[in-house]
Amino acid sequence: MLAADPHIRQWRSALIQQARSLSELARMAWGNDGAKARQTTLQLLDMCTQAVNDKNEPLLPLRGHFFHRALTGLWACTNAACVGRRQTALDAPHWAFGKIFLERRQHCDACGSPVYELVQCSECSAEHLTVVEASEKGDDWLQPRQYDQNEDEFQQALEPVEEDETEGDIADATAPSRGLPRLLVSPAAVHANPVGLHADGRLAWHQPEGIRVHLLGPDSHGILSCPFCHARDRQGKLFRPIRLGAPFLLQTAIPIVLRHLPPYPHHVSALPLDGRRLISFTDSRQGTARFAAKMQLETERDFVRSLLYHSVADRARPTDCQALDTLRDEIIKLEQAIKAQPSLGTLLASTLAEKRAKLQTLDIIANNPIDQKVVDLSSSQHYSLVENAIYRSVFPPQGV
Ligand SMILES: [Zn+2]
Ligand SMILES: [Zn+2]
Repeated sequence: MLAADPHIRQWRSALIQQARSLSELARMAWGNDGAKARQTTLQLLDMCTQAVNDKNEPLLPLRGHFFHRALTGLWACTNAACVGRRQTALDAPHWAFGKIFLERRQHCDACGSPVYELVQCSECSAEHLTVVEASEKGDDWLQPRQYDQNEDEFQQALEPVEEDETEGDIADATAPSRGLPRLLVSPAAVHANPVGLHADGRLAWHQPEGIRVHLLGPDSHGILSCPFCHARDRQGKLFRPIRLGAPFLLQTAIPIVLRHLPPYPHHVSALPLDGRRLISFTDSRQGTARFAAKMQLETERDFVRSLLYHSVADRARPTDCQALDTLRDEIIKLEQAIKAQPSLGTLLASTLAEKRAKLQTLDIIANNPIDQKVVDLSSSQHYSLVENAIYRSVFPPQGV
């Protein structure tokens, strides 16, 4: 039925010639590329890849190329009465700032007020604007705070090394900016100082000039705190710019995309995810290597976690608890019998010792399942399967 459809025949002949975008295919079939037309096109393409003839060949075998833009940060207008936020989702009482921008800029295109980078508190996710206060020409100014953008984002995605994080790192974290770190916060924040701000960033401390913003400075130790959760920014890393880099997006998207791909058909032994494959590209060679290592690590962690969970769940079955209780009861009864009739002591001594030893063994297994798992993991059939399937193919034994 699909093969007879003229739209699908048209797609097939167009895709044989060259790669086409989703919008092009939608326009071919429906005359427009609106969201509904694109969605219908995707659903039909899915059906065409699943429909096979009697030789098991799909009607339209496809290879998809997906592009995703990373988010390098968010910037917001300082003006709570900004016209750019009207009739958008930002027009809500709890949003303390104006229009949001996806790229760095100095002034709002809607109201002309200064624009600064949005940061989030790592503890409570409260949003603030990050700035530095500097004195120049006899006035105080708010200037954008620059974060070090040169850091390899794939490096950030690796687990932080805790011992390197000391209070002395504050200087490094704030190094790219000159001036004193400050936050612009919601008027609901405690200790926020309402001040006037001119369009050029000049502060009006006492006069009602410019727009009204709420400035928050550091405490007596020179450390900024979140005005909502009161977490202190000891290492200069509490307030984070909003960035969604390639490592995060790839790590989130790849497992989902993989699940929808066909299994690798010619495998002889079981492989992770039935051998499904995809190729991903990033513009960082270092990053690709780090990312692959991280994915492998995550996969192994998930695998061991699931193995431990099922194994521990097996051992903690109610029957085990019942067996323990029965054994305890038997031991108590034997002890009571010996106490009442000391002459039975010699006769029952070996039975009592046997039951006590059994109880001790069962107790150890029930209370220390992880110790037992060290042995279970290495002898697990699944573990040797993964070891053979992956490591032996990637790192063949030397001398072969
Ligand atoms: Zn604005
Ligand atoms: Zn907070």
